[in-house]
Amino acid sequence: MIYTGGTIGMKQDEKTMALVPVDISQIEVEVPELKKFGYKIDTCSFDPVIDSSDITPDFWVKLCHIIKANYSRYDGFVVLHGTDTMSYTASALSFMLEDLSKPVVLTGSQLPVGMLRTDGKENIISSIEIAAARDAQGHPMVPEVCIYFESQLYRGNRTTKYNAENFRAFRSANYPVLADVGIHIKYNRHLVRYPQDWSKPLKIREKLDTNVAVLKIFPGITRQAVEAVMETKGCRAVVLETFGSGNAPTSDWFLSTMKKYVDRGMVIVNVTQCQAGKVDMGAYATGVGLRSIGVISGFDGTTEATLCKLFMLLGRYSSPEKIKKEMQKALRGEISCI
Ligand code: ASP
Repeated sequence: MIYTGGTIGMKQDEKTMALVPVDISQIEVEVPELKKFGYKIDTCSFDPVIDSSDITPDFWVKLCHIIKANYSRYDGFVVLHGTDTMSYTASALSFMLEDLSKPVVLTGSQLPVGMLRTDGKENIISSIEIAAARDAQGHPMVPEVCIYFESQLYRGNRTTKYNAENFRAFRSANYPVLADVGIHIKYNRHLVRYPQDWSKPLKIREKLDTNVAVLKIFPGITRQAVEAVMETKGCRAVVLETFGSGNAPTSDWFLSTMKKYVDRGMVIVNVTQCQAGKVDMGAYATGVGLRSIGVISGFDGTTEATLCKLFMLLGRYSSPEKIKKEMQKALRGEISCI
């Protein structure tokens, strides 16, 4: 169990009542139920622990190295993480950990583990159970980077944090849950990705290039605003958040601006601003225009996953054509294009 920070690992200081991090090596004081598993659960903590809003790609690289260095020693990994950027971290890890054959389950909570009514205890207990679960052949039930939260297990790169208040903080609108936790843990095994070759060693894709911008369009967006984003120094790719099924203004200035940057080698990926559904650039003239100038579809991918996939691909390849080709593939089950 790797503790990175966030609400889950907090408790109230008895004197000041301020929230302070718990000592993760003493997690069984807060969650004594863990002893009942009879599992050997080792813990390690980032130092200092951080609010997940402070997370950077260097942190993802560190996390990958911890997993890789301990890979053969454990059946699975549970990462305690703040909820605010958990979907980004889960997406990034899914692309950085290649040929993963063990569960990496991220979890957190809305209320600190050391508080009454916390959702953290159940989230930790179920995450541990899922990370340790094996099938009759002895293979892990869910050898993926997942998020467990409030009785549901999600493919991490399909999630978005959508609720800042409710215990059900995450949603995976375009992909069903990998497991439902009630009296029993019901795994939807037909939805889980399993390796073809379980013996392949884990590889880390740690070279990330974050020279990416996100441009959310809106009625009334000005040419200057669009240009300002596209002209960002060093920018190699843009995630274009469009309306509905991938639609954007058809005005000449907008399309010619997009074309100018595509022709300069910028990778522009079209994702929808909608919470669910997919981009279909053939459905309306407003989408066809974008497609005809070389903007590519992000299909039903989330902004978080699209960004992190670009980070990894830009770090790996220099050719925009190669990057576009890889973007069209489901590398870790992040899109349903095929
Ligand atoms: N700000 C916190 C974080 O993301 C919120 C949380 O943990 O839920 O680290």
